Amino acid sequence: MTRSTDRREFLKTASGAACAGFMSGAFSHAATASNQEKKDQPVNSQADLPIVDTHEHLWDLTKFNLPWTKDNKVLGRSFVTKDYLAATQGLNLVKSVYMEVDVDPKQQVQEAEYVIDLCQRKDNPMVGAVISGRPATDEFRAYIMKYKDSQHIKGVRQVLHGPDNPPGFCLGSQFVKSVQLLGELGMNFDLCLRSDDLGDGAKLVAQCPKTRFVVDHCGNMDVTVTDKKKRQVWMDAMQALAQHDNVVCKISGIIVTANENWKTSDLEPNMRFSMETFGPDRRMFAGDWPVCTLRASFRQWVDALKEIVRGMNMTLADQKKLFHDNAVRFYGLKDKGYKPA
Ligand SMILES: [Zn+2]
Repeated sequence: MTRSTDRREFLKTASGAACAGFMSGAFSHAATASNQEKKDQPVNSQADLPIVDTHEHLWDLTKFNLPWTKDNKVLGRSFVTKDYLAATQGLNLVKSVYMEVDVDPKQQVQEAEYVIDLCQRKDNPMVGAVISGRPATDEFRAYIMKYKDSQHIKGVRQVLHGPDNPPGFCLGSQFVKSVQLLGELGMNFDLCLRSDDLGDGAKLVAQCPKTRFVVDHCGNMDVTVTDKKKRQVWMDAMQALAQHDNVVCKISGIIVTANENWKTSDLEPNMRFSMETFGPDRRMFAGDWPVCTLRASFRQWVDALKEIVRGMNMTLADQKKLFHDNAVRFYGLKDKGYKPA
């Protein structure tokens, strides 16, 4: 399917179904199941669930300059495909979507080419990518137009929780225009903001009705925070975002905010709130490996999330949506013939 067909389908379902949109499954498997999904084996237990990881990081420090990893004992080395395959072995991880790693902006094109190559090879699960970009700059348009016809480039992210990005940064006129352009190109934008500024994300979404958005990491609310006011700011923003049917939420990133000796119950309130707020059709599992390894292995994170959804009495069908189907549908992921070990 071409990008323009993807986009037409999205607009048809999103506008035609009004607020029912994703929530009622208007944009769901019943209408758009791919041949690949139909061939899937039946899922009889949690162990059988196929997994799509919507947030796979890789960095090869012999090729890329990542200043933010420099002094980190765990993350300050290269993480490449073979490490990812080892970390996800035995988890039935069938597809993944690359997530940009805040490379030096001079290396953005090189990063995009690196991941397009991985998407084309059958020795790894990557089938799509969200690349780095600077929407506030004049150069953004020419940069992203290079990828407008790529089957693999699904969207753009700029991490907005750093010291260079004050509150309101994503509401500047050039930034908004660039994110609107992504919508015209059928691409999405990942919202990765401080939880205090997540309301800016809702304001951006309101100005870009044709762009699809992904809330990263359940809105980046630290699980150890007990301050009621701070948690309310986050919850209000998550609810404001969820009112727009062109927004989905990645269930991830929570583990890195936990204490070192975390228990599943420490993660549960944030995850449950995020999953319930976005509903069964607009939540997607994300690994955030290798960042998650600051607190847990990939497998420990998957196991914790599976334990939480069992506690929520989530049906196996809804679990399959969370771990697999929603991502396939949202990104329009194709089967490239990769089989997990
Ligand atoms: Zn990440």
